[in-house]
Amino acid sequence: MDIKLPIERPKNRPIVITGPCSAETEEQVMKTAQMLADLDMPVDMFRAGIWKPRTRPGSFEGIGFEGLKWLKKVKDNFGFKITTEVANTQHVFEALKVGVDALWIGARTTVNPFSVQEVADALKGVDIPVFIKNPINPDLQLWKGAVERIYNAGINRIGLIHRGFSKFGNTIYRNVPEWQIPIELKRTFPDIMMLVDASHICGNRENLLEISQTALDLNYDGVMLESHCDPANAWSDAKQQVSPFQLKEEIIDRLQIRKTGAGDVEFHHNIEDLRLRIDAIDKEIIQMLGNRMKVAEKIGQYKKQNNIAVLQADRWNEIIEKAMKQANPLNLSEEFISRVLKAIHQESINHQERIMQGDKKGEQVK
Ligand code: PEP
Ligand code: MN
Repeated sequence: MDIKLPIERPKNRPIVITGPCSAETEEQVMKTAQMLADLDMPVDMFRAGIWKPRTRPGSFEGIGFEGLKWLKKVKDNFGFKITTEVANTQHVFEALKVGVDALWIGARTTVNPFSVQEVADALKGVDIPVFIKNPINPDLQLWKGAVERIYNAGINRIGLIHRGFSKFGNTIYRNVPEWQIPIELKRTFPDIMMLVDASHICGNRENLLEISQTALDLNYDGVMLESHCDPANAWSDAKQQVSPFQLKEEIIDRLQIRKTGAGDVEFHHNIEDLRLRIDAIDKEIIQMLGNRMKVAEKIGQYKKQNNIAVLQADRWNEIIEKAMKQANPLNLSEEFISRVLKAIHQESINHQERIMQGDKKGEQVK
C-alpha cells in the first residue's frame, strides 16, 4: 500500500487540528475560530462535529447540514482548512459539497465494517484526505480493516487518529489509550500520519498535556484537541474542552519535541513489549506471594494446634542463607534480597499471628 500524507508534516512542530466538539451556533463556531486566529499558533485544520453520534439518546446530536455553512465561513474568513466527521453517504456528499478539506471517520463508525464500507463507496472517485479514528473497542484488525476499505476505494491520503478505547468500570481515562495498539498499527503502515485525540482519551482538561506529550514521545505527528470559545457551556463534551487560549498556553506551547528518527517506532514497540513482560512477571510474583501466604497460614494452623511459637529463629536464618546462595549468581544484592525476604517474612508472621489468635481468616484455614 502506498499511503500518502493527508496534510503536510511540519518539520519542527506538531500538527494541530482543533475546534469545538460540535458546531452549536454560527456565533460559537465563528467566535472559536476568531479566538484561534488571534493566537500566535499554527492551526493546521479547524474541526467541528456536525453530526454527533452520541452513545445515548437525549444529548445534543449535532446541528446537521446547516453547520456546514458555518465551517465554510471559517474557511473563507480565516483561511483555516476545515474537517468534519462523516458516518454515511449523505454526510459525505454534503461535506464534499461545501468543500471540506478532509473528512474523519469517528470511533463509532470505524467499529462497523458496513458503515466504513458505505463511506468508502461514497468516496469512490473523490480525492480527499481521510482521517480514521480507532474503533471504540481495542481491536487492531478493525482499525486496519477500515484503512484498507478506504484505501481500496481509491483514497490514498490517509491519517490515523488515536482517541483511546472504551472499557467497563472506572479508569482515570474516559477512553484508555492502550498505546501498544497504535504502535502496532504503525508497524503495519510505517509512514502513516498518526495524531492523538487527547480530548477523548482524557475526558477532562487536566491530563491533556500529559497524553499529548506521551504521544509525541512515541513519534506521533500531532494532536487533535477540542477547543471552544466557552468550554464550560459547550453542548457536548464540556468537561474536556479548553479555550483556544488554554490550548496554546497550557498545552501546545508546553509540548516538547524530542529527537526523532526512523528507529523510534521500533524502539518504542520494544519498550512496550518489555513493559508488558514486566507486568506479566509482577502479576506472577504477586500470585506467588499469595500462594506463599496460604502455605504459611497452614503452618500457622499447625503451630497453633501444637502450641509452638510463631517465630523460629533457626528457620529464619536458614531461609536467608538459602536465598543468598540463589541470589548471588543472579546478580541480586544481599541487601536487597534480605530486605525483600524480611518484608515477606513479616507478612507471614502477621498471617500466622492472626491464626494463633483465632480470628475469622485463621478459622478458615483447613
Ligand atoms: C469527536 O471527535 O467529537 C468524536 C465524536 O470523537 P470519537 O469518534 O473519537 O468519539
Ligand atoms: Mn467530542
